[in-house]
Amino acid sequence: LSENGSYSRALFGESFHRLLSTHTGRKLQDKVALITGAASGIGKATATKFINNGARVIIADIQQKLGQETANKLGPNASFITCDVTKESDISNAVDFAISEHKQLDIMFNNAGIACRTPPSIVDLDMTVFDKVMKINVGGLVAGIKHAARVMIPHGTGSILCTASITGVMGGMSQHTYSISKCAVIGTVKSMASELCRHGIRVNCISPFAIPTTFVMEEMSLLYPNVDAQRHMKIVHNAGVLKGANCEPNDIANAALFLVSDDAKYVSGHNLVVDGGFTSFKNLDF
Ligand code: NAD
Repeated sequence: LSENGSYSRALFGESFHRLLSTHTGRKLQDKVALITGAASGIGKATATKFINNGARVIIADIQQKLGQETANKLGPNASFITCDVTKESDISNAVDFAISEHKQLDIMFNNAGIACRTPPSIVDLDMTVFDKVMKINVGGLVAGIKHAARVMIPHGTGSILCTASITGVMGGMSQHTYSISKCAVIGTVKSMASELCRHGIRVNCISPFAIPTTFVMEEMSLLYPNVDAQRHMKIVHNAGVLKGANCEPNDIANAALFLVSDDAKYVSGHNLVVDGGFTSFKNLDF
């Protein structure tokens, strides 16, 4: 065993590796994961969860200071690389970093995304804003899949995860541009899953709802300037999610762990909605 508890899988063999994973209950023992948008929120919670399950994680984010701080807090199994997902070269650098540092990339989580409040009517849509959101939420994610697939295909295995949204399932929330971008994420995942399944690579996504992160709190404050963001979250939740469900980024991290681990080895092309039941009975235009 090395100082940080990792060991040579090649030296000890597959059977020992499986035995250790089973014994420790660590679902990602010896895996390497790259997570975009992991400086905060859902990405950060997922990085924490993956590390606690035996993985080494590369945090790739446009926010250099915060990203580095997050990696420092998470300890020796976390590292940080500056990455703007709108730049394909940044994504390929992040993937190269995974290979040069860890010799492998098992999990790619394309999670970076921005919100966007657009005018209520399509006739007023600003196409410059539309292009910007699509470039981050869709373009960055497609480039992430492309570069991860390039290194995963030769190994015939890998797991790719993306963050969509319930707006991609239902539309609405007065955010046409954001909603269109997240519909595209779900479509991309289905399309990529069908290509990559023949290489043993699974591609899935998660659609969260109202998880209290910077992204959501800022949006809520814009929607209801006179209502405190925390209070608004309470109103939203009281309006129709599972009673007593105090949602938090870790709820999405749990779903992410399931989807990238062997527990979901027969799951691909799936959009896992994690919304406390909201989409089952609510119209999104609240
Ligand atoms: P967050 O603001 O805490 O995290 C977003 C992260 O993405 C930040 O660290 C930010 O620096 C990074 N980022 C933004 N632009 C980037 C770029 N160009 N390149 C690299 N990194 C960039 O918010 P979050 O809620 O954790 O958001 C994560 C994902 O979850 C997003 O894709 C978002 O659309 C999605 N989502 C969140 C919710 C929710 O309820 N919080 C609901 C649906 C979907």
